[in-house]
Amino acid sequence: MYSNRPVPVHISAAEHGITPEQISHHALTVLQRLHEQGYGAYLVGGCVRDALVGQLPKDFDVVTDARPEQVRALFRHARIIGRRFRIVHVIFGHEVIEVTTFRGGDDDAVRRSDQGRILRDNVFGTLEEDVWRRDFACNALYYDFATAEIIDFVQGWQDVSAGRLRLIGNPQTRYQEDPVRMLRAARFAAKLGFKLTEDTAAAIHPCRHLLKDIAPARLFDESIKLFQGGYGWSAFEQLRALDLFGFLFAGLDELLNRDYVRIAALLKQILQGTDERVAAQLPVNPAFLFAGMLWPDLTRRREYWLHQRVDSETALAVAADEVIDSAVRQVAIPRRLTDLMRVLWALQPQLERWGAIGEPGLPLAQLSADHKHLLAHAWFRAGLDFLCLRAAVGEVSESICAFWRQYAPAREAQGGELIPTHLPEDFASHGSLPDRPRRSRHRRPRRA
Ligand code: ATP
Ligand code: MG
Repeated sequence: MYSNRPVPVHISAAEHGITPEQISHHALTVLQRLHEQGYGAYLVGGCVRDALVGQLPKDFDVVTDARPEQVRALFRHARIIGRRFRIVHVIFGHEVIEVTTFRGGDDDAVRRSDQGRILRDNVFGTLEEDVWRRDFACNALYYDFATAEIIDFVQGWQDVSAGRLRLIGNPQTRYQEDPVRMLRAARFAAKLGFKLTEDTAAAIHPCRHLLKDIAPARLFDESIKLFQGGYGWSAFEQLRALDLFGFLFAGLDELLNRDYVRIAALLKQILQGTDERVAAQLPVNPAFLFAGMLWPDLTRRREYWLHQRVDSETALAVAADEVIDSAVRQVAIPRRLTDLMRVLWALQPQLERWGAIGEPGLPLAQLSADHKHLLAHAWFRAGLDFLCLRAAVGEVSESICAFWRQYAPAREAQGGELIPTHLPEDFASHGSLPDRPRRSRHRRPRRA
């Protein structure tokens, strides 16, 4: 494949400094069991890389020479998943340890599309072969449970020390095989502060169009990792710098090209707010994130319909349909989230309208029925959080936010929440907004 005679370097525990305390004890259990049965048992990928740079690994990936069926037989709660790559999930309550059998085989065993994309690659191999199928050298370090050494075939160790992101092999070929690697490059640069090597960066431009062929469901998964991983603002900046953002959100990318300062200011509020919540280990809701990210596009479309003299409620509903229809063609945001996004959007003009005529200092009991109705809405808090982000960039008057904040439960006192911790599933049964998010397709006005 990319090298026929890899010569591995072994890095001792004393040198690499990873201690068992840095490894989840469930992962250790899996490694131990495989080892006891005479199989090779290694940690690989992000967990080794993150432990080396002193970050807490998000998940632990195990790789072994045991076949999926053999792995499954060793654990009570294990199942084989995946069609493209068969892997085993070993389940320990909330933690899942992913166990993969070494991939390998020669090039003929790998099915490729006309553009060189890998379609099927399920041929088992050895550690020496597995390494060449990994993306970046810093992701191809193997922690051997038997010796506690790190095995390095690709100078990944040096890359981690130098903060370098380098694709293994020929970058153009590797992006052609799997264009998502370009998004992963942006993500790791954001997450780790690593710098792409010249070759790894230069091959992105000629390959970026290949992202058009990636399934929207996969791009949704990648978006969640990019924007909800705790480094969303930095990921956004990396994606823009590498000219990849438009392959996720084309409408928004276009607006950014026209009016970067204004639109990026709102995105910064949203993404940094999410980053802060992740850092504080508070839950984040992707509906809030996507509603915020798509808001500028929604506003633009809504204004178009208002100019066509469509009433304001219809203009918002039609614009919401348009934004969602076009967004999901790129990034498959699931319906349960888009429904919540519509409600969050529909709340905005209502909060603005009733907030503007609200008197400061009025006791709750003396509020109008309309005010009370909004306050009782299951999504009131989320709507208000979003309204306040808009106020922070000057889109809404601060006094409107201040009015509503008087009545908002003092969540700040309970941990400074900026973005809702949870969004009730039965939101439709509360409040004054459309019970079911309005699908206005049947009465959509025609574009001029
Ligand atoms: P994180 O867990 O922080 O998202 P990671 O590097 O662990 O980062 P995973 O998606 O969990 O990323 O993948 C685990 C490992 O599998 C990677 O480190 C890499 O070695 C390999 N891998 C994952 N996706 C690809 C890909 N698209 N192409 C090649 N190798 C990949
Ligand atoms: Mg991982």
